[in-house]
Amino acid sequence: MRQRAARDQKRLDSGAVTSPKDLENLQHEIASLARRQSDLEDVVLEVMERREAAQERATELTGRVESLQAKIIDATARRDAAAEEIDKEIATITKEREVIAGTIPADLLKLYDKLREQQGGVGAARLYQRRCDGCRQELAITELNEVRSAAPDTVVRCENCRRILVRTPESGL
Ligand SMILES: [Zn+2]
Repeated sequence: MRQRAARDQKRLDSGAVTSPKDLENLQHEIASLARRQSDLEDVVLEVMERREAAQERATELTGRVESLQAKIIDATARRDAAAEEIDKEIATITKEREVIAGTIPADLLKLYDKLREQQGGVGAARLYQRRCDGCRQELAITELNEVRSAAPDTVVRCENCRRILVRTPESGL
């Protein structure tokens, strides 16, 4: 378009065009080309501005993605470390349980395991201030008397939840 405008201008300046109507047409075309060029320049400017804004946004988003990736890496590392700790703890507790289980009579261990399965993982409960720590129910007087008179090595059980009751100095007996 610029070339065409330059060519028109050259023709105008050369004096080769002499007819007033042709001259007028030529001048009109030159003016029209100048307007179009100006419009196109505006469009180019706008496109450049939009491209700049898009680049800024892309940079910002890239930064956010990088920050999130760093957070994911950090969280993954912490999760793995925690899982490792838990695995170690499970191994230790399992070993401890094996040692303790070895000291308990087989039939009592069998009863405990059965109750534990039935009672949501808790087969034995502490008797604390006349209350079963398993079901939180307070023992009735007659039940309490039975527990009181039972020999220390007798297995006593909660009448409500059937769990094995563990007597301690804080049992309230
Ligand atoms: Zn109970």
